[in-house]
Amino acid sequence: MIRFFKTPWIVRKWYPSLTWSFPDRQSIFLTFDDGPNPEVTEWVLDELDKLGAKATFFCEGNRIERSPQIAQVVVRRGHAIGNHGFHHLSGWRTKDSQYLQDIKACDEALNEIGIKSDLFRPPYGRIKKRQIHKLKSKRIIMWSYVSWDFDSEVSPEESIIRLKKAQSGDIIVFHDSPKAFKNLQVILPEILSHFHTKGLKFEAIK
Ligand SMILES: [Zn+2]
Repeated sequence: MIRFFKTPWIVRKWYPSLTWSFPDRQSIFLTFDDGPNPEVTEWVLDELDKLGAKATFFCEGNRIERSPQIAQVVVRRGHAIGNHGFHHLSGWRTKDSQYLQDIKACDEALNEIGIKSDLFRPPYGRIKKRQIHKLKSKRIIMWSYVSWDFDSEVSPEESIIRLKKAQSGDIIVFHDSPKAFKNLQVILPEILSHFHTKGLKFEAIK
């Protein structure tokens, strides 16, 4: 199986209306998917704080309902939250009406705790053009680099080498999930210190 750490240009070209990076910005955009999770998210927040880094958390509705206070802490500490669906459905395998309903359910879980966001990241990055068209009220945020932190067949050392190739404006995906935690604990501090040393800032997508 081929794992792309950097999103292939052909994929970006196929979906030109989605956000893949912010080429004009002098920052790195770290994103964390599949939380919130009490243990992992808190750890990530502490790591980010060490360098004053801000990031964006794409949360699942079902996890927001389980750990609402963690989602609120994320916002209180200056980070952004985006919608990652309620049940983490693949757009390719889900009927449009059900897919849109699931995104709405995640918005409702966020509204319930006083959070509003027009950011959406499709679970697995899988979304049909028709679904994109129907999601006009959302900014759909993809990524230019993925860490593969959740994949036990990828060593954290390899992730670090590949992610260090990112440049200002790039959007990097991590996961604040139990599955990714082992590798994330190795990768994230290295990546933070690498770009910090290069003089880049870490900004939330707002
Ligand atoms: Zn996800």
